[in-house]
Formats: sequence, C-alpha cells, structure tokens
Amino acid sequence: MSQKPTLPGDKIAIIEEFEMGENTFDDGQSIRSLVVGTSEFDKTNRIASISEMRRPAVAKVDDVVTGNISALMNNMFAINILYINGKPTHSGIECICQARGAKKRIMVRVGDIVSAKIISHLNGVIHATISEPELGVLFSQCIKCGAKVIALGSNVKCVDCGYIEERKLSNRFGNSDFIKFNSN
Ligand SMILES: [Zn+2]
Repeated sequence: MSQKPTLPGDKIAIIEEFEMGENTFDDGQSIRSLVVGTSEFDKTNRIASISEMRRPAVAKVDDVVTGNISALMNNMFAINILYINGKPTHSGIECICQARGAKKRIMVRVGDIVSAKIISHLNGVIHATISEPELGVLFSQCIKCGAKVIALGSNVKCVDCGYIEERKLSNRFGNSDFIKFNSN
C-alpha cells in the first residue's frame, strides 16, 4: 500500500511488455505516467495504467481559504490559495471573488493576505466571497511605501507615511497568527 506515487513522466513499463493504459503515454520505448498516481499492471491483457491519486485538496463549498491576492481586475480579484480550513495546500489553485451589490468596490490589493469562503464551483472556476465579518483582509501593507498598516475603521492607515486606503478587513485583521487560525 505504501507504494511510492508515480509522477508525470515516470517510466512504469517498457513497451515490449505492456500496452498503454489509462493515464499513460508511450515515448517510443517506455510507458510513462501522465499523472500523479499509482501504477497498475493488468498482466492478463498486458496493460499498464495509472490510477490517478486524488487531487491535492481542492477547496469545497463552505471551506474557508486563506491566500494572497494574485490579481486584481475591474470588479473581481483572484486569490492564490495557501491554506484550506487552516491546513497548508500546495496545489497552486486560485479562487475568484466578485464584487457584488450596488457599490461593486474591490477593497483589496495585490499581495494582501485574505480569508475567503468558497461559495461555488462553476465551469472549473472556484468562486469565493469575503463579505462576512471574519472574512477579508488579514494582512496588508501600505501601497505607497510598503510599510506596516493599522486598521482605522474600515480603512488601513500606514504607520509610516500616513496614507489611508479603504479595505474590506477581516475581524481577524492584525492577528499575526492568521496562518494558524482555525487549524485543528
Ligand atoms: Zn506608507
């Protein structure tokens, strides 16, 4: 059971012995894996295949994710997910938050660390929201000078240059152990 997982490109068999099965390709000499998984050999039919491993933790609806803002567009932004329900993830997946309501303002900046809740999976895109008190910006920096900012109502104020900018702050903003929050 503790077989080492195959990685994409790993050689699992030679073509004289096996035929390509699921999740494999043939490089002319060897059967290689296309995915992360475990190799399976059907010796009767001489087929080598890979049983794909469950993808690394994909955020599900209602999961709370933490990550950094990777892109900011007109009325939406993308979060590069670093934690799902407090557990680190390295899957490199992103979710999208859309501005809703009449104001349609985006109150985050690229690089901010935010907490968001997954609301849906639609056409392969993971949608999330930050519009709950505990959701929103957990950590930010001054857009002008990069210094530390402190919460000032629904704004952040730079402790260095005094620049003030609106943010959708989480009620956990300023809690430096945001990384550990709600891990269990
Ligand atoms: Zn500043």
